[in-house]
Amino acid sequence: MVAAARRAGVHDPRILEALEVVPRERFVPPDRRRDVDHDRPIGIAEGQTTSQPSLIAAMLQALELTADDHVLEIGTGTGYQAALLSHLVAQVHTVERFPRLAEAARRNLAACGIDNVEVVVGDGTKGLPEHAPYDAITIAAAAEQLPEVLGEQLVDGGRLIAPVGPDGGQQVLIYRAEGGRLEQVRRLTGVRFVPLVPGDPSARDVEP
Ligand code: SAH
Repeated sequence: MVAAARRAGVHDPRILEALEVVPRERFVPPDRRRDVDHDRPIGIAEGQTTSQPSLIAAMLQALELTADDHVLEIGTGTGYQAALLSHLVAQVHTVERFPRLAEAARRNLAACGIDNVEVVVGDGTKGLPEHAPYDAITIAAAAEQLPEVLGEQLVDGGRLIAPVGPDGGQQVLIYRAEGGRLEQVRRLTGVRFVPLVPGDPSARDVEP
């Protein structure tokens, strides 16, 4: 996994070390544990996926995190990226719209002895204003349009990374907040993520 991350341009030793110490097998369904050493997304519950580790690592590197940062993750899934973040920064809040995934993430993180991550059930398109401000925000699902309100929840100079754009044409973009507004700084890569879906989970989310 570390080799795959290096190939993807990740050189930050703290991120490479986090990849080494976080046991990915704890964050995937039991029948997918044999796949955890492949640098590929893996299906989890509710029709979602845990992302490709090298891509998560490259996104974390682009956020230029420091050890005393407070970070918001939108789209917890089963908690793998949150576990990586827990090793890189002081405090993590992460929001997930499916209660079942949030509960799994809490269990997985606790089983790893991680105690600086708080998992909240909610709609991440609104951010998580009650715990703002954040030094950085990472969105793990693709938004057709970036929720501009997130700029108000970042400190001045805070960074946000998100896959943005329509299915088939998503780009991972990096923004910087200034006076509550988000300004695009650069583009990292093209990707394919599960969609960022506003509102509460409902029957329309259930696979037939
Ligand atoms: N961070 C995870 C990736 C999970 S996939 C990992 O490291 O493996 C993206 C997640 O975003 C899914 O679990 C999906 O349910 C969630 N999601 C989608 N729209 C959301 C929203 N509006 N608010 C919160 N979570 C959302």
